[in-house]
Amino acid sequence: MENQDCRQCGKCCEKWGWDQKGIIEDIIPWLSENRRDILQHVFILLKDGTAIGGGVVLEEDLSRIASVYYWIGPDGKVLYHCPFYERRSDGKVYCRIHTAKPAVCQDFKPWKAVWHDYGLNCPACRDTSP
Ligand code: SF4
Ligand code: SF4
Repeated sequence: MENQDCRQCGKCCEKWGWDQKGIIEDIIPWLSENRRDILQHVFILLKDGTAIGGGVVLEEDLSRIASVYYWIGPDGKVLYHCPFYERRSDGKVYCRIHTAKPAVCQDFKPWKAVWHDYGLNCPACRDTSP
């Protein structure tokens, strides 16, 4: 089940690509590589209750971060879609930050027992469904 091929239909990113909880470990490489293109879409809640956008977060803020959420617009408003989701002319969906995407996306494989398709009708899962 581990080796199934994703068809890049995009259903999982479309359905679950927003309103996700991140981890501080996601933020660290984005800061060190100055990925403001990604950080500007991150909502961060500090331990003192202050909310900040990832566009202004600094490395010295890391120890003060309580929670991380995806995604917001540069204006700070919650997005109801992932800003990195892109359907191209070949009909497939691509992640524009594939090599830098957050852990929640890296680990998402709907054919894994823990996800168990999750109502996606994932075509890769249907290949081996009974
Ligand atoms: S729903 Fe399945 S096939 Fe479609 S993009 Fe997600 S993992 Fe790939
Ligand atoms: S960051 Fe990439 S993998 Fe994650 S939801 Fe967006 S498009 Fe999908």
